Amino acid sequence: MVARRVPVRGMLVGVALLGLAGLALARLRARDTVASAPPAAAPPPAPLRAAPRGRLLAVLAAASLLVAGVAFSAERRELLAEQAAPAQAVAPARDRSVREPVAHARRVPKPRSRPLPAPARAAEAVARLARRLLENRRVSLSPAGRADIAAGRVDVRLLALIEYLADAHGQVAVGSLVTGHRRFSRPGVVSRHVYGRAADIRALGGVPIAGNQQPGGLAERAVRELLALPPAVRPSQVISLLALGGPSWAQPDHEDHIHLAY
Ligand SMILES: [Zn+2]
Repeated sequence: MVARRVPVRGMLVGVALLGLAGLALARLRARDTVASAPPAAAPPPAPLRAAPRGRLLAVLAAASLLVAGVAFSAERRELLAEQAAPAQAVAPARDRSVREPVAHARRVPKPRSRPLPAPARAAEAVARLARRLLENRRVSLSPAGRADIAAGRVDVRLLALIEYLADAHGQVAVGSLVTGHRRFSRPGVVSRHVYGRAADIRALGGVPIAGNQQPGGLAERAVRELLALPPAVRPSQVISLLALGGPSWAQPDHEDHIHLAY
């Protein structure tokens, strides 16, 4: 762009110089004519003879200067416009380069806000529930039971059920969970404790199950409440000294606890 302009500007300078030279020549000729003319003899003929040629040169010079001036100012305006134009043309490009990373940053979600896959979210929720249970002062656990829960060996439904019993009765004491329970509940039948799906409830609301399994007593109230739970969360084994139907049946070796299992 600029390289194309250079000859034009040179030409304009040339025309201007030509005009100046013409003007100087015209003045010189006029002076020569005046100087060479006799002082008093005939002054009119010399200026008359010299005047048309000198005046013509002066007019041509002035015209060329005018043309050069007009052309130069026109080109200057063009140049200024051109200099302003790239700035405007560059500005959006620069803006785009600035905006682009911002837009990109908006598109890329922050690592913290990225949602976890459903199984990871579920595992996290179960771990949170386990931690809450371990910190719950209304839940009494044996050291082995605490270790089972901390190690994630206990079914989430049991965790929720223990939390529910603590809430419903104000306090819950849990015996065996996984560790420490015998493998077989009866010959040939593997206990659900082994799979982390059973809990032995030893006390509710600070009152032991042992000695409170009489009709209408603590154990009966608790069992009836458990049987009234929605099927999805209701234990499939509720073993005590009481047989109240459905998953509730009696076993003589359950005088001091209620066995709950899924
Ligand atoms: Zn049990």
